[in-house]
Amino acid sequence: MAIHTLFLLLFLSLISSDKAAESPEATTNAPAAPPRNIILMIGDGMGISQISAGMYANGDKTNLEKFPAIGLQKTYAASSLITDSAASATALACGVKTYNGAIGVNTDTMPVISILDEAEMRNLATGMVTTSSLTNATTAAFIAHVKSCSMVEEIAADFLKTEIDLIIGGGENAFNRRKSDRRNLLQELEKKGYFVSDYNQLPLSDIVPVTGQNFAYFTAAEEPLPASQGRDYLPKASNMATYFLNNRSGKKGFFLLIEAAQIDWASRENNSDYIVSEMIDFDNAIGEVMKFAERDGQTLVIVTAGYETGGFAITPGSQMDSLITAFTTDKQTASLTPVFAYGPGAERFRGIYENTAIYKKMKEALGW
Ligand code: MG
Repeated sequence: MAIHTLFLLLFLSLISSDKAAESPEATTNAPAAPPRNIILMIGDGMGISQISAGMYANGDKTNLEKFPAIGLQKTYAASSLITDSAASATALACGVKTYNGAIGVNTDTMPVISILDEAEMRNLATGMVTTSSLTNATTAAFIAHVKSCSMVEEIAADFLKTEIDLIIGGGENAFNRRKSDRRNLLQELEKKGYFVSDYNQLPLSDIVPVTGQNFAYFTAAEEPLPASQGRDYLPKASNMATYFLNNRSGKKGFFLLIEAAQIDWASRENNSDYIVSEMIDFDNAIGEVMKFAERDGQTLVIVTAGYETGGFAITPGSQMDSLITAFTTDKQTASLTPVFAYGPGAERFRGIYENTAIYKKMKEALGW
C-alpha cells in the first residue's frame, strides 16, 4: 500500500513536472531548440471569411487545420486605422508601424532592417515567391527600402543590393524595361552569378535549379495571371524554393517568403469565385510547404495576411457548395487578421498582438 502510494506520488510528480515543462512560461524560458528555417506565407487580403470560403469550396478541408497555434494580429498602420499593403508588409518584415505607402522605412522615411536582410547577414539562405510582381508592396517590404511603394524601378534596383538566393514572381519589366535609367537588371543579376530565366524562355516546371547558383525566375512581364486563367506555379514554386534553399551549402538555414497576392485583388473586385480559386491555390502551396515542414521538423511555418480586404461575408441561404456572399468595401478593412503557426516556436504565435510582434516573435524563435 505504502509502495503503491509512493509510486503514485512519483508518477504524479513526473506528470506534473512534464506539465510544467509544457506550460508557456516554462517553454519561453527553456532553451528549446530554435527552428533552423522560417517559411512565412502571406495570403494578402485573407480574412476569416476568405479562409472559410476556400475551405467550403475545397470539400470542407484546409491545410490550415494542421496548424496547432492560432493567433490574431492588429493590422493598423501608424498613419491610419486602415492599413495598406506597404505599411502592413513593413510591419511584418521590419517590426515597425509606419505610414501607408512605406516600403521598409519608418515614419521618418529612414530604412529599417527586415527579417530577410538580417537572415542574409546571419548566413541563412533567403528567398521569395509571389503571385504578383516581385516589386509589389508585400515582397518589396522584405528587401527594399524606399519611401513610396510607387517607386517600382527603385524597388527592383534594391534587389541587386542583396544576395537573395531565390526569387520567383512577376514584374520583369521593372528589371529590364526601365524608364528611369538604362540598366538591365537581368544582365546585372547574371553578372552576379544568378541563373536568370522567364516565362518566355522556359516553363518553371521544366527547370531544376542548381543549388550552387542563385536563382531568379520571372513569371510575367507585369502581373501574373489569376489561377483561374491558367497560372499554376505557386504550389510548384513553393516546393521548389523550399528544397532549393534547404540544399544551399554553407548556410545555417533559410528564410522564405511566399505570397498569395491575388486573394487581395479578388476581394477588391468583390469577386467571390476569384477569392475561392486563389484560396485553393494558396492552400495547395501551404500543403507543399507542410509536406516539407512535417518531414524536416526544424522549420517554423507561419501563415498570415497583411489585412482583410473587402469586408467579405458568407451570408444566409448559402450551401457548402454554393456560397452566397457580400462585401462592404473594395478596399482593406481594420479586422483582426488570423495567424497560423506550425513547428518549433509556433506556440509564441498564440494570442492577440500587434502585426509588428510577428517580426519580433520570429526573431525570438530563432534566438536572435
Ligand atoms: Mg501583396
